[in-house]
Amino acid sequence: MINASCGGFKPVPLYIFFGPPGSGKGTLSSLCVERLSWLHLSTGDLCRKHIEEKTAIGQQIDFIIKSGKLVDDAVIIEMVVQWLDTQAKRAQGIVLDGVTRTVAQAQGLLDFLSTRKDQFLLRLVLLEVPDEIVINRLSARRVCSNKNCQHIYSLNNATLMPQKSGFCDMCGAALMQRTDDQEETVMLRLAGYKKHAQPLLDFYEQHGIMVHRLDGQKSIEAVFEDFIKRVGVNSDTY
Ligand code: AMP
Repeated sequence: MINASCGGFKPVPLYIFFGPPGSGKGTLSSLCVERLSWLHLSTGDLCRKHIEEKTAIGQQIDFIIKSGKLVDDAVIIEMVVQWLDTQAKRAQGIVLDGVTRTVAQAQGLLDFLSTRKDQFLLRLVLLEVPDEIVINRLSARRVCSNKNCQHIYSLNNATLMPQKSGFCDMCGAALMQRTDDQEETVMLRLAGYKKHAQPLLDFYEQHGIMVHRLDGQKSIEAVFEDFIKRVGVNSDTY
């Protein structure tokens, strides 16, 4: 059992944020980083960084990402394991955003965690959002082009719009639309999500991992409040 309590050390809460593309995983993760000082790993960001830096992995996955398909499970798990081993030691909490997406990745993660018994407390947070909202949100999503910032905006939501059109409020860099946020690719990504979602949820439930379901249609502040209540983070800490 992965989430066993431990003698002496408190296990680090490790949350998988799961849901369709555009369900708010990235924005909720940012709030966990800003307000709870948690660490955030987005495999999508990591993949885009490899492409930008033209690493061997980046060259291998460039076309796959642009076409909205999934990167090979072994590549993804290697990235995650490497990150957890090097970055996660003293974290107060960790959010995995965009991983795991397949049962093979989930199995890879559990295999890794079974070698780190008592170090992590794994939970799943499912953000539920209907398709039409996903499509709307993604076609309006803009991202800061500065790879050290990557703040997310929305052109159809007054509270998430940039103050100066086309530019990031945080660092002033230009905003851009991700190539995989164009409608045709969004439909493919959504189909990919649906194919894997139920088997993945079944897998985690069979392995005794708790699944928290949140209504991802609410405003991001409301989703964050629900998250805090459901997972029992002490409100004094944010
Ligand atoms: P995201 O930013 O999470 O929407 O991811 C963007 C793209 O990166 C996806 O469409 C995939 O091509 C790739 N990717 C990110 N995470 C994974 C993963 N866990 N498994 C496979 N491919 C991934």
